[in-house]
Amino acid sequence: MAAPTARKLHYVIWTVGCQMNKADSERIENFLDRQGYVPTAEVQQADLVILNTCAVRRSAEEHTEGQLGQLAGLKKRQPNLAVAMTGCMVVSDVQVMQRRYPMVDLFFSSLTPESLQPLVERPPDEPVAAVFDPTPIEVGPETASSLLQAQRAQEVMRYIPIIYGCDEHCTYCIVPARRGREQSRPVDEIVTHVEEVVSEGAREVTLLGQIVDRYGHDLPEKPDLALLLERLNGVRGLERIRFLTSHPRYIDERLIEAMRDLPKVCEYMHLPVQHGDDAMLRRMGRPYRITDYERLVERIRTKLPDCSVSTDVIVGFCGETEEQFNALLRFLERIRFDVVHVAAYSPRPGTASERHWADDVAGQIKKERLWAVEALQEQIAREINTALIGTSQEVLVEGQERDSGSRWKGRTRTNKITFFSVQEESPQAGAGLNFTGRLLRVQIVHASARALQGRAVLCSLPEA
Ligand code: SF4
Repeated sequence: MAAPTARKLHYVIWTVGCQMNKADSERIENFLDRQGYVPTAEVQQADLVILNTCAVRRSAEEHTEGQLGQLAGLKKRQPNLAVAMTGCMVVSDVQVMQRRYPMVDLFFSSLTPESLQPLVERPPDEPVAAVFDPTPIEVGPETASSLLQAQRAQEVMRYIPIIYGCDEHCTYCIVPARRGREQSRPVDEIVTHVEEVVSEGAREVTLLGQIVDRYGHDLPEKPDLALLLERLNGVRGLERIRFLTSHPRYIDERLIEAMRDLPKVCEYMHLPVQHGDDAMLRRMGRPYRITDYERLVERIRTKLPDCSVSTDVIVGFCGETEEQFNALLRFLERIRFDVVHVAAYSPRPGTASERHWADDVAGQIKKERLWAVEALQEQIAREINTALIGTSQEVLVEGQERDSGSRWKGRTRTNKITFFSVQEESPQAGAGLNFTGRLLRVQIVHASARALQGRAVLCSLPEA
């Protein structure tokens, strides 16, 4: 527990990056809550600030470095403010980190929040530097030692990490160097974790992994993702299961059939392709050809006709020609993804692409290619979503739309954000009710590239 003090101690966690980081931040929050700390939105009120960082793109690092600059100024005025840093920007050589970011008091692995103990236990009203000598901390390959921490309660949708690290060698990616080798959690541990979050109010879980389809290969009994989905489908009170991120090389028929046959598994797959040209894919270290990818999507759509598929692409990778970029556009037109996340390539120090090839696509060209992908995808997504007007969709309600007062927000099984009002057909239905966590049928009346809008019709009061 924190040192006895008359006042409450406050913390702020700034999280940058992917869902894995968000799940890690929940575990850190949970640890600090148990230590008697309380969260605050005001950094001036905080005794401890934690930055959970992302190194996947230079812009994410710059964002964190901007925040660190502000914290350095704040620490001069509030010397008892402690700053800790975790996530993918933290490398295992802590001395390098200390030289680079002297305003940070402690670097730690996000999977071991107990590493914060020395900071948490220090006398809170004395300057950090006077009482705390930061010891270098092992941040290398992650361990699954503290995985059974309960996470933040009362959220309808929760992220559950099932496999950590990555054994692939995508040439542009810093993740394997920062998050270490693949390490799966045992099936029973994950089932228990999911039962816990359901008992706290969750109705949907998203299983997380850098390559989620690789789940289980490193465990003694060699379970796979299909088997895990089968076990989780039996968890009472859980309504929906999703998983991400998938890799085209590791999706097999068993998984596709599990998605088809298990009612709680949603028809949605995030399947990063990264490029639409075979030579670019080879250079990126992606071990498949475009025709393999297209055949895979065809197999998924044959077995799961309503499945939505999203992807990630990188434009302006080393040596990308106009012709190769056009091949990417044609590919996107053929597949017609529901969502495309597009990023302009930025070299990350220490990656193979940074060491071997020049970052030779001009910044302006990168921007133009990025805008071209966005414009094309906007049109495709609008067309796909417009075709849903007039249909009735099952929506899991996540809460009220911010500032709307009367409209609600949720997602379809295919992961489309849906805003809706509740139409009352019986006098009491809908009045003053909280629909959060409920599954409702919503009639879609309007669609844009990014969201659906509709009406839920309540004929009788839903079950309490
Ligand atoms: S699969 Fe490739 S892009 Fe994804 S985390 Fe692993 S190395 Fe990075």
